[in-house]
Amino acid sequence: MPTADDFRVRQEPFYQPQDKEIELYEAAYAARLPVMLKGPTGCGKSRFVEHMAWKLGKPLITVACNEDMTAADLVGRFLLDAGGTRWQDGPLTLAARLGAICYLDEIVEARQDTLVVIHPLTDHRRTLPLDKKGELVAAHPDFQLVISYNPGYQSLMKDLKQSTKQRFAAFQFDYPDSTLETAIVCSESGIAADLAGRLVELAQVGRRLKGHGLDEGISTRLIVYAARLIGQGTAPADACRMAMVRPITDDPDIIDSLDHAIGAIF
Ligand code: ADP
Repeated sequence: MPTADDFRVRQEPFYQPQDKEIELYEAAYAARLPVMLKGPTGCGKSRFVEHMAWKLGKPLITVACNEDMTAADLVGRFLLDAGGTRWQDGPLTLAARLGAICYLDEIVEARQDTLVVIHPLTDHRRTLPLDKKGELVAAHPDFQLVISYNPGYQSLMKDLKQSTKQRFAAFQFDYPDSTLETAIVCSESGIAADLAGRLVELAQVGRRLKGHGLDEGISTRLIVYAARLIGQGTAPADACRMAMVRPITDDPDIIDSLDHAIGAIF
């Protein structure tokens, strides 16, 4: 049986605050409110949860959600082995028992029938029924549920129901402003501030194309990738094309205009 110690965040994950989110999260945790982190991909949501788990000294169990995920993948199932059948807790059950922060990343990817299992954990009941096992798990006092989702991907098929949304306190994330983002890129890659600033400038050109041929802007994560390539000795223009342009689009016109921007910036 895993213990809480197995899920501790041992080293401080670097997190550059953008606003009052650290204090507000501490308040939400103190009130044991379930928390929703909204925002585009690669803007720091997961890093924020890791940082907060470290700061609060609580174990963190992360689940990357996908559409094939079933309720059993979250709560657990009976397994058949040499000794017969035995129950194995899923990550949500484990987090509820151990008093961990359970982070369900990209929750909209999960099907609605899977998501209803979180409901009793997110209201005054703070319980998790294991129907197959006939057990009602009362969540440990330290347990907290955190979900992330990207409203940009939302469609009629893929949106959270109000009955789910209205169980959470929400934080709205976005790409940081250029000064903060430059500081993040420097810290994550070790490259010089001037160069990091130019990568951020390119990302901002890309972000202005959102809705004009791009579904999503160039994320902080991709800027960090480019910066790490540069740190390895890759020429900046090559690093930008490879990490910041080619991954985000297949549209030849957009690739062309971003490649032009690279030429102008470097
Ligand atoms: P997501 O929003 O998709 O969960 P992540 O938290 O994984 O994004 O962020 C992607 C990367 O961007 C991180 O690994 C980190 O390098 C960098 N990053 C983004 N925002 C921050 C921040 N505020 N502080 C530190 N690193 C950040």
